[in-house]
Amino acid sequence: MNKEPEQGVYKSTYAIRKERDPNYPEKYRKWNRDYYKRHPEIRQRINLRYRMKYREKIVEQKREERRKLKEEIFNLLGNKCVRCGFNDTRILQIDHVNGGGTKEFRKFNNRWACDYLKHVLEEVKKGTGKYQLLCPNCNWIKRIENKEDRFHVKRA
Ligand SMILES: [Zn+2]
Repeated sequence: MNKEPEQGVYKSTYAIRKERDPNYPEKYRKWNRDYYKRHPEIRQRINLRYRMKYREKIVEQKREERRKLKEEIFNLLGNKCVRCGFNDTRILQIDHVNGGGTKEFRKFNNRWACDYLKHVLEEVKKGTGKYQLLCPNCNWIKRIENKEDRFHVKRA
């Protein structure tokens, strides 16, 4: 057999088997799959280790993604509360003009709300007028006015 000099002396078992049997990579992958099917707890442990290792990186990426989405939405919606003009974007909230925001938010079952924000951004770009920006004060006032707050029954 012709050996390429740059490959060096050492060859992994995988490389040797692959050379002998062209179907070896496929067989190897199948064996791996079957092995983890038989031992799901090992797969889980590896996944967990991976998640722990890259946790901070993932968190950072998600945070950045959310920040960008919010920034784009806020820019399109004018960066200020539509009622009182308050413009500190750190606490402005995306509000459903016709209510039902919490219900819709729950449909997007994800911790970082990125899917939800993507949906909102699409709607805002379409110009449906479904969303607006409110500061927390005005948001509460709106909820009380529309009887959307959950304490309303007690208060009435
Ligand atoms: Zn306001």
